[in-house]
Amino acid sequence: MRGHNDITPRRSAAGLRDHAATLDAAARACDAVTRLFETSDPHPEVFRLLANELALLHTDATQARPGNGLAFRLKLLLAAGIVPQLAACAMCGETEHLRGFSGAAGGVVCTACEAASFPLAEEAYHFLVGALGSSLAHAPDGSELTLRQVERAIGETAEHHAHVRLRPLLAA
Ligand SMILES: [Zn+2]
Repeated sequence: MRGHNDITPRRSAAGLRDHAATLDAAARACDAVTRLFETSDPHPEVFRLLANELALLHTDATQARPGNGLAFRLKLLLAAGIVPQLAACAMCGETEHLRGFSGAAGGVVCTACEAASFPLAEEAYHFLVGALGSSLAHAPDGSELTLRQVERAIGETAEHHAHVRLRPLLAA
């Protein structure tokens, strides 16, 4: 006779710890979708993106990391039509000296326009470009400063253009 224990996956202590991180990452992904797409309109591309993220977290516990979570949010901004402008200054179109990020302007800004922006390091800029240009499974990683700047860029974009406040992803 089969008992309940038979269906419990055998996991090491490390596996259980990873599992908690996976569940947390999955919950945050669902929460971000709910906040950004709260209308009843169907969003098949968002559903596919979320299903892809959940499958990835399920099959690979190491994906429950900030880089993956932030890349997922960037792809949500893309699906929502509010992805930050990264190729040129969002205020004047300048393509060089892109040193700041302005959620209000909708993307990166140049040194001449940076009054209402916060400083965006080159590494954070490359994260934003890299995360949008690669699959979730290959989302970039970065230093804590980089990840914080990226989270701020995503958060300010969602606030200014979707009037949505996303739950913090990185620990305060
Ligand atoms: Zn500018």
